[in-house]
This record gives sequence, C-alpha cells and structure tokens, in this order.
Amino acid sequence: MPKRRTDRVLEGLDAAIHESFGALANEIRPHMERAFRARAKEQAAALGMRVDPERLDQLASGYSELRAKELEKQLRDNTPHLLEPIIETALAEHWDDARLESEIADSRAFGLSRAITIDRTETTISRQAASEAVGQAAEADEKSWTINFDDACELCQENAAASWIEASGDFPNEMHTGCRCDVIYRMSADEDERKGEEETGEGDEAEA
Ligand SMILES: [Zn+2]
Repeated sequence: MPKRRTDRVLEGLDAAIHESFGALANEIRPHMERAFRARAKEQAAALGMRVDPERLDQLASGYSELRAKELEKQLRDNTPHLLEPIIETALAEHWDDARLESEIADSRAFGLSRAITIDRTETTISRQAASEAVGQAAEADEKSWTINFDDACELCQENAAASWIEASGDFPNEMHTGCRCDVIYRMSADEDERKGEEETGEGDEAEA
C-alpha cells in the first residue's frame, strides 16, 4: 500500500507545510495591502469618487488579513500533492530522513519561483478585488479586462476582446496563475454622456 505510506509521511509534514506557508502568506500580505490600496485609489479616481484615506486603509488592511489567511489555507491544501512524487520515490528507494528532507526543501513546492509566482498572482488578485470593491460601492455597471503587458496570454486577450461587459457578468476566462491584468469599472451612463458630447461637439463650454 504505497499510497497509505505516502499519506502518513505527508501527515508528518503537515506542521512544517503549515509553518512554511504561514510565513510566506505573512510576507506577501503587505504586498496585497499595498496593491489593494493603490488600485482602489486609481479606480475611485476614474469613477470620480472620493475615498476617505482612513477608510481606505481599513479596507486594504481588512482585505489583506482575510486574503492572507485564505492563501495560507489554499497552499496548505495544494502543497501535499506536489510532494507526493518525491515521497513515493523516497519510499521506493528507501531514502533516509536527511535525504528526504533535503529533496523536499529543494523541490518546486518550496522553491523561490513558486513563491514569486504566488506573490505576483496575489498582487493581481488584490488589485482586481480593489477594483470590484470600489466598482460596487460606486454602483458602476460595466467592467473590462485590461492587459498591462504585451505578452498577455490568449486567455487574457480573449477577456480583453470581450470589451465592456456587465459589472455582474463573467469574462470568457477566469484569472490564471501569474496573471498581471486589471479589471476596470465604469458607469455606462458617464460613457454615453462623453460620447454624446463628442458626437455633437458640445463640451462643457457649450453647455455653460
Ligand atoms: Zn492576464
């Protein structure tokens, strides 16, 4: 029963996994908070909405606290399956504990590149959450997927091609790991007004 032995080893590792990703989530939390605050400011400005800085700090801090906890749980749940192949090899080849420990420490699950990807993804999730929070508060009724880098993947290009969709709607694809795109909100009424002014050539001056 190799599977059951693997599970036993994994159970033994749970405390270490918990500790390691608790620490990572704590390290990432300030990045979440900063990204949320910055994006909320941008989105509020775009919607012509005033935000009390103290309230914004509370929102960003509350968001990052909850999200860091979710992230820790998510990583604790997702990491064991990344370690299974190593443990199965260890059991099959009768590695000693020191070898197993060092192979796990060197594995992709605990690697720097995974940590960087998680950090980047969480920054994007935080920005998108901030857009949504402000968009909802302002009762903005439309949103669009905005690509921030030239090398956006096909999934994100498809989302961007959907242009403005209903604020409560879904883009063709969900956000993926490592994504750097923003979601921006607007009021369709504001946009109609702007277009109307362009078409008739009537700006603020003409109305005044
Ligand atoms: Zn993207």
